[in-house]
Amino acid sequence: MKVIAIEEHFTTTEHVDALRSLINRVNSGSTDAMDECNISFEARWVLPAKPPADDGGIMEKLLDVEGRRINVMDEAGIDMQVLSIMSPGVQAFDGETATILAKSINEKLAKIIERNPNRYAGLATIAPQDPKTAAEELERAILELGLKGACIHSHTKGEYLDDRKYWTIFAAAEKLAAPIYLHPRMPSPLMVRPYLTYPCLATGMWGFAAEVSLHAMRLICSGLFDEFPGLKIILGHFGEALPFWLWRLDNRWQRNLFGMQLKKKPADYVRDNFVVTTSGMFHHPSLQCAYSTLSADRILFAVDYPFESCSDAVKFIKSSPISENEKESICRKNAEHLLKL
Ligand code: MN
Repeated sequence: MKVIAIEEHFTTTEHVDALRSLINRVNSGSTDAMDECNISFEARWVLPAKPPADDGGIMEKLLDVEGRRINVMDEAGIDMQVLSIMSPGVQAFDGETATILAKSINEKLAKIIERNPNRYAGLATIAPQDPKTAAEELERAILELGLKGACIHSHTKGEYLDDRKYWTIFAAAEKLAAPIYLHPRMPSPLMVRPYLTYPCLATGMWGFAAEVSLHAMRLICSGLFDEFPGLKIILGHFGEALPFWLWRLDNRWQRNLFGMQLKKKPADYVRDNFVVTTSGMFHHPSLQCAYSTLSADRILFAVDYPFESCSDAVKFIKSSPISENEKESICRKNAEHLLKL
């Protein structure tokens, strides 16, 4: 069975240097970035001054795409990785830096894919700071560079994409039939403070899912999907808990306490406009929840390399109590269809 993994990260030395330089400016107080609280905190996780001894060489793995990574994929039985830039992508930078960096990352990614067309596909990096240019870059990435969608790392300087100024990005995505992977980063500046007492809570343990599920619900409540019904959003980690919430979303929505109007019920948008992946959630009861609320056609295989183990992810999906046909859909068919691989 061919296995395609769709939330697999990489970075470039240029990206790492730009992040280091931003972190240094924030630490020295020489920037009034809205992201200040975030980036200095996020930095401990993204670029620790002294990587913990047990981090398994995360940065080396992110920088290595065409070397050892291919052996790791072979050993685990992964045929193809769909690559995306590591969190927080370019979203912590000023608009100009972010836009230039995004283009350069996309060009590097396209060359990697050109050299390894059977092993890699890619999601574009775009800079929402400048929505019109981001939409143009998405179009260039899909039509000229052959990338398959985009990855956006949740908030951009504390702002969420339900703000209408960002909708030009979604208009382009819908027109191009290019899905957007809404990927976690640490909670936005206004949300992060209650996490700081227990910093581990702000990461994949809790804060990432809280941040992205809030972002997804804001997109739904804004009416975005009534305006762009063909838009597809990918959520990792089995939908950042949304499948578990579907019934209650609709139950509370129907009371209409705040007079908000949508054409459909919130859970309908989750079913129609979102797909979820297995990234970093190798747990059969979580699969069962997404499987029974959304169906196997809306679940795609992903690892979250190098933060998770490729072989654990493959063992998990192969041992899941669903039919071989459904495994085939999750591991290959759904990704081929959604990303036009
Ligand atoms: Mn990830």
